[in-house]
Amino acid sequence: MNYETVIGLETHAQLLTESKMFCSCSTKFGAPPNTNICPICTGQPGTLPVTNKKAIELALKTAIALNCKIEPHSIFARKHYFYPDLPKDYQVSQYEEPLATGGYLEIEVDGIKKRIGITRVHLEEDAGKLIHVGAARIMGAEESLVDYNRTGTPLMEIVSEPDLRSPRDAAVYTQTLANLLQYIGVCDAKMEEGSLRCDANLSLRPVGQREFGTKTEVKNMNSFKAIEKALLAEEKRHAEVLNEGGKIVQETRFFDDVTETTTGMRSKEFAHDYRYFPEPDLVPVEPSKEWIDEIRESIGELPAAIEQRFIQDYKIAKLMVKILIEKKLIGRFFEEAVKLYGHTDKAPIIANWIAGEIAAYSNENHKRFEDLDFTPAQLVEILRLIDDGTLSGKMAKEVLFTVLKTGKQVKDVIAESGLTQISNEAELEKIVQEVIKNNPKQVKQFKAGKETVMMFLVGQVMKLSKGRANPALANQLLKRALGKN
Ligand SMILES: [Zn+2]
Repeated sequence: MNYETVIGLETHAQLLTESKMFCSCSTKFGAPPNTNICPICTGQPGTLPVTNKKAIELALKTAIALNCKIEPHSIFARKHYFYPDLPKDYQVSQYEEPLATGGYLEIEVDGIKKRIGITRVHLEEDAGKLIHVGAARIMGAEESLVDYNRTGTPLMEIVSEPDLRSPRDAAVYTQTLANLLQYIGVCDAKMEEGSLRCDANLSLRPVGQREFGTKTEVKNMNSFKAIEKALLAEEKRHAEVLNEGGKIVQETRFFDDVTETTTGMRSKEFAHDYRYFPEPDLVPVEPSKEWIDEIRESIGELPAAIEQRFIQDYKIAKLMVKILIEKKLIGRFFEEAVKLYGHTDKAPIIANWIAGEIAAYSNENHKRFEDLDFTPAQLVEILRLIDDGTLSGKMAKEVLFTVLKTGKQVKDVIAESGLTQISNEAELEKIVQEVIKNNPKQVKQFKAGKETVMMFLVGQVMKLSKGRANPALANQLLKRALGKN
């Protein structure tokens, strides 16, 4: 049987606010356990929450960037469940009247553009963090410790329509969304660190069938790669069950990164299990038109627009542009370097260095671009030294790596290493003469018309100069000495 995969994603993004969703406790990561807490976020009797305006602003910004309709009136709701990381026994979320609805995000999967519907964007608070001793999950743990520092941290949930058709679609969607959230400055979107988390609903249906199959929810995917792997495993499991004539049980499943399989955790709750009801302690959110306009103005250029502009204005290949727009600061670094270099037609060269050498260095050394001690001015300095013949391309790479590694100035690295190209004619002429003297056979062949020998002779000059000779000049001097110029 041929099946079509249907996937919808729920993404939780930790908002970049200084304080929590309903109290003034700090959201700073890494504080000692249970120090960023107060009577409100630990659910003490008699306390009253107040909504963080900045959190609403960041969620509205996201909703606008995702082409959503901002609801003129939205309310908070209590979602009830018991778990030790939730001191109030309910989570304040939004249910029936969310902040924004009906948007879309455009993604590009292997060259094909797809528009993925966004069902809703809403605000909620995060739960605390449980540390299970002796096991990865609460099941099987000897004891569990709770840290309420994260409790009440503003979260934004972005729910997609079931428009994704493959695990790869889902990974690309999450990556595109993460990129967008970083660009507009609402979330740092680091899946590995948990500031962006996502749950996926997956089902299979026979090709051509309209109604959906039974879905399962997959949790614990901690990277873009893990999303793809987890959903591939779950897709395969569904197909196997269905092909054997079995039925899929609607449940939540946990992805294990090591075994690359999913296992059932609990049967899936239904909305009515949570006894949602409107939160009586919080006022509705009714953003004014002026405020929404003000937020819209503050969004700036989005990655999709920057991608188009880089391709058109700088004539850079699309694949390379993808690397340049991976993070806002890479694109900024690039544009600043182009400006310093002074001509737009050099932009592809700069793009090449950023997407090639610099990216290779950060990958090999597990350093993020933002952590590199390197400026656009330094890159331009190196490129100019290639232009004036001081450095060969190969030497420039070495200088670049040393600068990246040591944080030293370009000119100091060159002075210390003696890495400069011999572009001085008199100096190079001596080496050329020596090569001619040492290789009479090849010289004879060349003079007899075998021009390919020139490659060998230039190679000898390079060897004798320990790679420092300017190859173009060596070529020219050899030809002249051998009477070909
Ligand atoms: Zn608090």
